[in-house]
Amino acid sequence: MSIPDLATLHALGAAQQPTYPDSEAVDAAVSKLRTLPPLVFAGECDELKDKIAAVSRGEAFLLQGGDCAETFAGVTADNVRNKLRVLLQMAVVLTYAASVPVVKVGRLAGQYAKPRSSDMETRDGVTLPAYRGDAVNGFDFTPESRVPDPQRLVDVYNSSAATLNLIRAFVTGGYADLRQVHTWNTDFVKESPVGQRYEAVASEIERALTFMQAIGADPVEFHRVDFHSSHEALVLEYEHAMTRIDSRTQMPYDVSGHMVWIGERTRQLDQAHVELLSHIRNPIGVKLGPTTTPDDALALAARLNPLNEAGRLTFITRFGAGRIRDGLPDLVEKVTAEGLQVAWVCDPMHGNTFEASSGYKTRRFDDVIDEVQGFFDVHRSLGTWPGGLHVELTGDDVTECVGGGEDLLEVDLGNRYESVCDPRLNRVQSLELAFLVAEMLRK
Ligand code: PEP
Ligand code: MN
Repeated sequence: MSIPDLATLHALGAAQQPTYPDSEAVDAAVSKLRTLPPLVFAGECDELKDKIAAVSRGEAFLLQGGDCAETFAGVTADNVRNKLRVLLQMAVVLTYAASVPVVKVGRLAGQYAKPRSSDMETRDGVTLPAYRGDAVNGFDFTPESRVPDPQRLVDVYNSSAATLNLIRAFVTGGYADLRQVHTWNTDFVKESPVGQRYEAVASEIERALTFMQAIGADPVEFHRVDFHSSHEALVLEYEHAMTRIDSRTQMPYDVSGHMVWIGERTRQLDQAHVELLSHIRNPIGVKLGPTTTPDDALALAARLNPLNEAGRLTFITRFGAGRIRDGLPDLVEKVTAEGLQVAWVCDPMHGNTFEASSGYKTRRFDDVIDEVQGFFDVHRSLGTWPGGLHVELTGDDVTECVGGGEDLLEVDLGNRYESVCDPRLNRVQSLELAFLVAEMLRK
């Protein structure tokens, strides 16, 4: 099976692409990328697809999370470990409290390109091109830094490789061993009630593990976890250069990450992103916002999953707390009535963003919870499976979203606002979310 070339894709129309000043430099970066080894293996993508198939059958829950936008400067051991740690803690809470297998996927090792609502950004009367993620240009507000530089695509590859290398070492090299459940929490318990609640779960798990060991059971699952990478497939040059024919199956895979998704702004049926992703064999996601009609969803499924394979397609809905209860039922009903195999996942972040009076982009923790609750309510009432959660979070104690148990206020946002794009849940808020979702799953 062949895939269309880059010129053909661009001719279809492609939203949210950088305008590079120098096409020779683009060709050089793409040629370089084509020579580099895969970041993930096709077989690993197939394994994730099988796990997402279980999600679509109602037998597992997907936890997908990480930064809105990774940065090259953020590729440090501490930063990557902290994100992995909060995801592992959330997964433990969800698995233990709800007795559901949790499929763990990071918005990680590739999440460097951002769609923007405006091409330009104005500050103090100065207007420059918007920051489109480290994959494209620099965050510094200077004319030089905002020029798109294709060499950055090679930097994306290298940063993703370094991140994945560390993650693979963490998840197979002992850090993710279930007997570490307490140590993931050590710097955290004393100050926070949710840390203490986590501690109680960790103690119960430890008792269960000790019992299992006493009777001679020590399966490999106790010592390692499966963890997968994902990002928005946005910059065509990068995703195309990383799409390779798998020698085992002769099928194309985008080997830049295990799962890739199409964003709300680039899901036009006849344009380049849908076309490219229709050719690759990875599990893929599509973000669906509040303007999505049932016919849009059916048409996307027909284009992206014509064989109706379970695990291939995940619909990530992001309606906003105020719209999900009215908007989602029609979509789920019609997709279900057609017999389509999809995993339904809730992104409770992107429909709930607003600007605080201080100018910071933020989200209310209560809105996030309310959208997740609405998502569960809709699926429960239709008899469909609320298959997972897609969240922007970080393992650090940032102050980007308001509310939660620490009751972060708008005036606190400036204390530690580090996101270069959308506001993320901090570690405490993420763990609180996991406990609340575990309760929703149990009911
Ligand atoms: C994102 O996931 O950061 C994003 C831009 O989402 P959406 O495409 O849903 O707006
Ligand atoms: Mn975002």
